[in-house]
Amino acid sequence: MTLDEIKAIVRTVPDFPKPGILFRDVTTLVGNGPGFAAAVELMAERARAVGAEAIAGIEARGFIFGAAIASRLGLGFVSVRKPGKLPVPVLAIDYALEYGTDTLEVDPEAVAEGQHVVLVDDLLATGGTALAAVELLRRAGARVDHALFAIDLFELGGGERLKRAGVAADGLLAFE
Ligand code: IMP
Repeated sequence: MTLDEIKAIVRTVPDFPKPGILFRDVTTLVGNGPGFAAAVELMAERARAVGAEAIAGIEARGFIFGAAIASRLGLGFVSVRKPGKLPVPVLAIDYALEYGTDTLEVDPEAVAEGQHVVLVDDLLATGGTALAAVELLRRAGARVDHALFAIDLFELGGGERLKRAGVAADGLLAFE
């Protein structure tokens, strides 16, 4: 399957979650067996090529791609969670959203000191979410210099923001 064929499976929903936003919805890609398998295979190849020792995914859609990639490569999966979900003491980071703040949490024991962790999420927009996850994983001891996304909304500048933080961002599908 070509990248254009995979891209065509992603549904675009206008005016979600608010008027004027074009929401790129990976639900349709995940729901398409050959499309999901092709996306995961290509992302896994990229993670393998940069020497990933573990895959971290951001709750919730980053779990879908991240866990599939980790399994494909025989690597462990590190959960970067929404607040209040983990049953152990956590490392936490607050980060700014367009309106207000949000929090991500990780189990500090989920990462080995110096372990090369590749971050995965479904979509890169401004990069705020991914940057917070990178910072959190680094605090837990991970070496994080690559992040993989099924979709890169490249006009929003997330890739440049991550690059300034020492992280190469790699989006499988570029959307305007
Ligand atoms: P950022 O922090 O601005 O880069 O936004 C990325 C986060 O918001 C990711 O966790 C995405 O799941 C979510 N997100 C932002 N825009 C979209 C979209 O158009 N479709 C799906 N998810 C989105």
